[in-house]
Amino acid sequence: MFSKLLTKKKKNKKKDSYIIIAGCGRLGANLANTLSALGENVIIIDQNQGSFRKLAPSFGGITMTGDATEIAVLDNAGIKKATAVISLTNKDNTNIMVAQLAKKMFNIEQVIARLYDPECECVYREFGIETICPAVLSMQEIDKLLTTIPLASMEDEE
Ligand code: AMP
Repeated sequence: MFSKLLTKKKKNKKKDSYIIIAGCGRLGANLANTLSALGENVIIIDQNQGSFRKLAPSFGGITMTGDATEIAVLDNAGIKKATAVISLTNKDNTNIMVAQLAKKMFNIEQVIARLYDPECECVYREFGIETICPAVLSMQEIDKLLTTIPLASMEDEE
């Protein structure tokens, strides 16, 4: 996991580079723990302070309480110097807003957003935002596991 990041870090380790994660839920906290364990600098933002309980005791990053859609909060997190912004809150509208601010206002090269509704994906693509959609990923995994009715062959028949 994250082999690309490990290779890149070995070649080009920047002490002042960091990743901002919006949303310290199940996915956000796991990602923050993993990236931190890999030696990456992480700043994680959540509007609910209690959410930071999900972070491992070994988490070496910075936590910030606030609404990630607020420019002042992103600014305080030092978004101007972030190498990547990953928005993993539980609301698609919030994730799209954070991703748009990161991309358009702060010119962050790598912006990733979680998207529950696969139909919104085109909106993100328009803005050059990469998306991860749990519904689509789950379908792909089910397709791999489902040996009796391959979903791919159902698409071919359409
Ligand atoms: P989960 O559904 O477990 O992935 O959790 C999503 C996390 O996103 C929760 O910890 C929420 O408190 C957090 N969250 C939701 N909206 C915002 C927001 N606007 N800014 C920061 N964190 C948020």
